[in-house]
Amino acid sequence: MTYRTHHCHALRSEHAGQSATLCGWVASRRDHGGLIFIDLRDREGITQVVFRPEENPEAAAKSHALRSEDVIRVAGQVAPRLAGTENARLATGAIELVATSLEILNSAEVLPFQLDDKVSNEDLRLTYRYLDLRRESMSRNLRLRHRVVKTMRDVMDSEGFLEIETPILSKSTPEGARDFLVPSRLTPGSFYALPQAPQQYKQLLMVAGVEKYFQIARCFRDEDLRADRQPEFTQLDVEASFVTQDDILALIEKLLATVFREARAIDIPVPFPRLTHREAMNRFGSDKPDTRFGMELTDLGDIFRESQFKVFRAALDNGGVVKAINAKGLAGITTGQIENLTELAKQAGAKGLAFIKVENGEWKSPIVKFFTDAEKTALAERLSITEGDLILFGADTWETACETLGRVRLRVAEILDLLKDSNALNFLWVVDFPLLAWSEEEQKWNAVHHPFTRPCAEDIALLEAGEFGKVRAVAYDVVLNGVEIGGGSLRIHESDLQSRMFSVLGIDESKQQLLFGHILKAFQFGAPPHGGIALGLDRLVMLIAGEDSIRDVIAFPKNNRGVEMMTNSPAEADFKQLRELSIQSTAKKPA
Ligand code: ASP
Repeated sequence: MTYRTHHCHALRSEHAGQSATLCGWVASRRDHGGLIFIDLRDREGITQVVFRPEENPEAAAKSHALRSEDVIRVAGQVAPRLAGTENARLATGAIELVATSLEILNSAEVLPFQLDDKVSNEDLRLTYRYLDLRRESMSRNLRLRHRVVKTMRDVMDSEGFLEIETPILSKSTPEGARDFLVPSRLTPGSFYALPQAPQQYKQLLMVAGVEKYFQIARCFRDEDLRADRQPEFTQLDVEASFVTQDDILALIEKLLATVFREARAIDIPVPFPRLTHREAMNRFGSDKPDTRFGMELTDLGDIFRESQFKVFRAALDNGGVVKAINAKGLAGITTGQIENLTELAKQAGAKGLAFIKVENGEWKSPIVKFFTDAEKTALAERLSITEGDLILFGADTWETACETLGRVRLRVAEILDLLKDSNALNFLWVVDFPLLAWSEEEQKWNAVHHPFTRPCAEDIALLEAGEFGKVRAVAYDVVLNGVEIGGGSLRIHESDLQSRMFSVLGIDESKQQLLFGHILKAFQFGAPPHGGIALGLDRLVMLIAGEDSIRDVIAFPKNNRGVEMMTNSPAEADFKQLRELSIQSTAKKPA
């Protein structure tokens, strides 16, 4: 026996008169005075089935019992629909299946939500994810994800990369987040860490002579819950030997161009523009600039060098900057909105947010009275100020001023709804990231990318001289419409340089041996120069699908409290299990 002859998207006018058997779910059922119509749905589409009591009384009688989402098998004859009842929106809309027999394979209870509605209670959707995934938009996303991954595998294979699995039960590798730990029963008191990324293993594969590795890799990071983060997520992870930065960038451009062609039939122009980290910060106030709109940050340091306005003058005297953006057309901003923007600026570290509104030919602002005529003229010219503009200033250290105006710029674009008609896909590379960043909180230097990232050859002297903040890394991020979709670097492959890097990060030699002895040792046995990158698959598929949440492109995601609602994990472990693992919980039970 075969269950079916066709899928529910397959039958057309030319099949009229033929027999067919279909299987699927009852998407809807309509009773037209004893004549029962159902829309039968399977993975591929929908076919209308009609039960005619005078021709097939037995099947028709059974069809009266059908309810939404019952699983059925129907055999019948394909017939053209009556003139005027065709449905042009359905691929099978010209025909219907006149049922001769009906088998109910399984019946369904009333669903907790309708599959054709937009369900706003996401926890409910996630609790019944298997139903949620029946919805067309979700099943489309699953397919799209498959297509993206398949294309990636094909491209990587054609470029000579080997797909190699690395351990999930592994050792802590620092990517800047907390590890998930798994207690070892056989070595009481010891723990595996789930990989934050396969970073060290992929580098060790280079030492092993693999030369070109990739993996669709599951990564785990125990971060504080922020909107749209998942504790486990998927990366396309890549590493190669004897490659330059240009080689890796070209590979990823080719990969992304192919993915967009296969998945969306869109040709994206390559190569992508490249911005240095410094330029990205200077012009857009972000290391992942959204270049779909302008409103760039403009430097005003030369204009206000002698300013009487204390805030500007102090910033410049202290070696900082004065910058501004011109929010064209936003002079009508409300006081509430200005307060909001000011709050945002403060979160970015600014003390406030100076502004000028240009209304009725007048500059309205608490600060213009400090400006000379010459300063005003120069400012008007530099920012092309015209009626209706809102000028927003940042006067601070370079980092804080850029960061502040960068965030304000994005919020202003939201307020002005600048992107409402945009279907631009602005890819770009940010290159020449700093190697190290000073953490005020921890009072130490941290790696901006990770500790295995290579310093720029020209900047090694700066590293030796202890000018850590000035050292650039051979590190790059790929950005799409202001979202970082991947990042990587060339790596350190010399044991002594790697050890030096660990020392700068405050890891002393005995700790280095304990945590990274394996990699320091491996680098002494002929490690080739190498580098790589990882792309965030969930986010990329989300952008390709045009969804707003990565949860919509993951089959079984956790909600934003880190809970997988369907199975209700995480869950308590029972006492016996814990005892076997030599683990005792100190968690206080909620009252
Ligand atoms: N392991 C890095 C990350 O997960 C990517 C890389 O450097 O290849 O961000």
